[in-house]
Amino acid sequence: MSEFRRNPVFGNWIIIDTERNFSQEKHSVENGVEKSDTAYCPFCPGNESMTKPEILAFSNNPHRYPNTGDWKLRVVPNNKPILQVESAIKRQAYGIYDKMEGAGAHEIIIESPQHDLQFKNAPLEYYENAYKAAISRVRDLRNDIRFEHIFYMKKYGSHGNYPIGSHPHSQIIALPIVPKQVNEELDGALRYFNYKERCVFCDIILQEIDDGIRIIAENESFIALCPYASRYPFEVRIMPKTHKSDFDLISDAEMSALANITKTVQTKYSLVLDDCPGTILVHTAPLKKRNLSYYHWYLEIIPEIAVLGNIDKGTGLFVNPIFPEDAAKHLKG
Ligand SMILES: [Zn+2]
Ligand SMILES: [Zn+2]
Repeated sequence: MSEFRRNPVFGNWIIIDTERNFSQEKHSVENGVEKSDTAYCPFCPGNESMTKPEILAFSNNPHRYPNTGDWKLRVVPNNKPILQVESAIKRQAYGIYDKMEGAGAHEIIIESPQHDLQFKNAPLEYYENAYKAAISRVRDLRNDIRFEHIFYMKKYGSHGNYPIGSHPHSQIIALPIVPKQVNEELDGALRYFNYKERCVFCDIILQEIDDGIRIIAENESFIALCPYASRYPFEVRIMPKTHKSDFDLISDAEMSALANITKTVQTKYSLVLDDCPGTILVHTAPLKKRNLSYYHWYLEIIPEIAVLGNIDKGTGLFVNPIFPEDAAKHLKG
C-alpha cells in the first residue's frame, strides 16, 4: 500500500511506494516487463493473461472476446500500480505532518501489438489510437469524484530502465491531490489573466506565430515550438490554437491533428537527435476546475539529452546549452 506524505515546508506531496524494489527497478520497466523477449512480455499478443483484465480495447474484430488476441490497442491496470483504485482516501494528521493512503488509478495503454515498433516509425493510426484511448480513459476517470488530477505521460526510446525493444505503451495516473507544480502553473497563468484579462498561452501562441523563429511545425489546430525559456535542449511544446483548459475537451478533428503533429515532431527529432529517448507529458487543468479561461492545455516533449555540468537537480536552476531559436532552426530543417 502506498502512502502520500506532504512536505510541511514546500507543501508538495510525495508518494512512498514500498512495493517498488529500487534494486530491481534498475533493470525493469513498470508493469513487470523485465525482458525485451516477447515470450515474457505481458504486453505482447498471446500473453493477455499476464496483465490484469483489460479496461478498454480497440480491435477490428467485432466478435473479439475481452482479454484475447486480435487487438490494436489495450488498456490495462498496471500490475505494479503506484496507486490503487480500490483504496479509500483517508487524510490523516501525524503530529505536524499530513499523510493520506495512496488511492488513485494507474493504467497502462498498450499502444500496439507490435513489440519492437519504434515511436518515430509508427504509422499515423498508432498515434490516433493512442490519443483516442487516453482521452477515453481521462473522460471515464473524471467521473470518480475522489480524483483531483490526471497525468497522461509516455516515455519513448531506450531509457535506463526502459530497454530497447520494450513494448510501446503510455501511462495514465489519476491522483487524489493536485500536484504542487500544477498549482504553481495555474497560479502563474491566473496572475497574468488578472493583469491582462487574456490567457497567457493564447498570447504566447499569437506572439510565436508572429515571431516565427521558434515554431517547428504547424497545422490547422496546433503549433509545435521550442519554448522561449526552454529548460532543456530541444524541448518542444505542442499547443492547441483553440483555447481549452482541459485535454479531454479535444474534438475528434483536433485529435487527428494532434496525432499528425506529434508524428511530424518525432520525425524531426529522429533526423536531428537520432534515437534519443524522451518523455511526453500532457499539461491540463485539474479535474475539478473545468473550462478555465486562464489556463490552456498543452503537450510537452523533453528529449533526454545528457547535459554535462547540469545543476538542475534540487536547485531549480536549469542550464540549457542551446538557444531555443537555434534548436528550432535545426528541427525545422
Ligand atoms: Zn511486447
Ligand atoms: Zn488560451
